[in-house]
Amino acid sequence: RPRRNLTRIFLPHLVASMEQVDQTYIMIKPDGVQRGLVGEIISRFEKKGFLLKGLKLFECTKELAEEHYKDLREKPFFPKLIDYITSGPVVCMAWEGVGVVASARKLIGATNPLQAEPGTIRGDLAIQTGSFSEVVFALGLLKPCKESHSYGKLSCRNVVHGSDSPENGLREIELWFKEGELCQWTQIQAPWLRE
Ligand code: ADP
Repeated sequence: RPRRNLTRIFLPHLVASMEQVDQTYIMIKPDGVQRGLVGEIISRFEKKGFLLKGLKLFECTKELAEEHYKDLREKPFFPKLIDYITSGPVVCMAWEGVGVVASARKLIGATNPLQAEPGTIRGDLAIQTGSFSEVVFALGLLKPCKESHSYGKLSCRNVVHGSDSPENGLREIELWFKEGELCQWTQIQAPWLRE
């Protein structure tokens, strides 16, 4: 019995100390900026309780966009993706918090807005257009023979980007922000967010 008590007392502290504070790079893409969704998107992360470390409106170069999406270089849609990201200003953000990378991905929703759940940013604020067959493939009603067939002409417009791992979160924040552009500060609401 005494051992059980000790476990009850120490285990939550142990788990809490193992919780990792991550950082994620969130970017409102040019369609999100043009459509006037900046406030709406920022507010979803703000209301969730994450800590905003950096924020700027920015016109990125082709080189920066290519570096950011370097893992997708071989994809058939890569040139279109780079044209899209450089087609107007983007809003760059660095957010911090426990589990922020995974949580932000949930808030954002599936890559294809047609498949994103209602309640997510992409599910609520974006649509994906294409020919009838492309929409049928995107909805998963039929399987295309080749990836390039399914998405060749689909738009990449899904209003927001979020890092897919804590490592990429750090890499992308370093890529998009210069030294001195991030703030160290304490949220006054912090003690009200977590015990
Ligand atoms: P996510 O942004 O959800 O992490 P990916 O990293 O797979 O998704 O892709 C990066 C971006 O490239 C997407 O957000 C979208 O703008 C674009 N994209 C991804 N897949 C396709 C596709 N099949 N056709 C057109 N654009 C795509």
